[in-house]
Amino acid sequence: QSWGQCGLNVPTMEVIRKLGYEKPSAIQTQAIPAIMAGLDVIGVAKTGSGKTVAFLLPMFRHILDQPKLTARDGPIAIIMAPTRELAVQIHKDAANFARKVGLRAVCCYGGAPIKDQIAELKRGCEIVIVTPGRFVDLLTSNSGRLTNLRRVTYVVLDEADRMFDMGFEPQVTRILQNVRPDRQTVLFSATMPPKLEGLVRKTMRKPVEITV
Ligand code: AMP
Repeated sequence: QSWGQCGLNVPTMEVIRKLGYEKPSAIQTQAIPAIMAGLDVIGVAKTGSGKTVAFLLPMFRHILDQPKLTARDGPIAIIMAPTRELAVQIHKDAANFARKVGLRAVCCYGGAPIKDQIAELKRGCEIVIVTPGRFVDLLTSNSGRLTNLRRVTYVVLDEADRMFDMGFEPQVTRILQNVRPDRQTVLFSATMPPKLEGLVRKTMRKPVEITV
């Protein structure tokens, strides 16, 4: 398998070249083309499989395909993660890519001062990486024009099984209710327990499941 077969565009291929990833991992080989075809995708894959790159690369292509970008118009992609540690790790990878293609990624998680995150959001961004509880707080805070989700068309639920175990289902559902229904939704999870099926049915459209 090669990156050439993944159907990436020129800027995304350039990012890969700079990162020095010689070839795509199994989850990347399977998930990237499906996500880029616009499908809702469930990726059953563990940490270490390269799942982060599998949802970040199609996300960058998705964003770069949008006409007339203005960071201040609100994010185009939301990535939800169960913990601050994971959100920070995704943000590190995303910000690294984003810089190379002139985009901005902001990270919002609980347990840190909300006012710094409000300031970051106010500066505008195309990508927001969040823990669900804190993002609900930010969306409902009294500075109501903080960010709007009008433009969001790409949503990632990472480590969905852990988000569920940590009791974030109501917050995840609430955030998704505020995103246009014709969005693309991508879910990654180490396991696919039956309790996740309800969330999938409520929030995804004819998802393709990929297991590695
Ligand atoms: P993840 O499963 O997303 O937590 O990624 C695990 C690690 O693999 C990260 O440190 C990535 O930088 C690295 N990685 C992701 N994709 C590739 C690839 N195609 N080739 C080499 N390393 C990769």
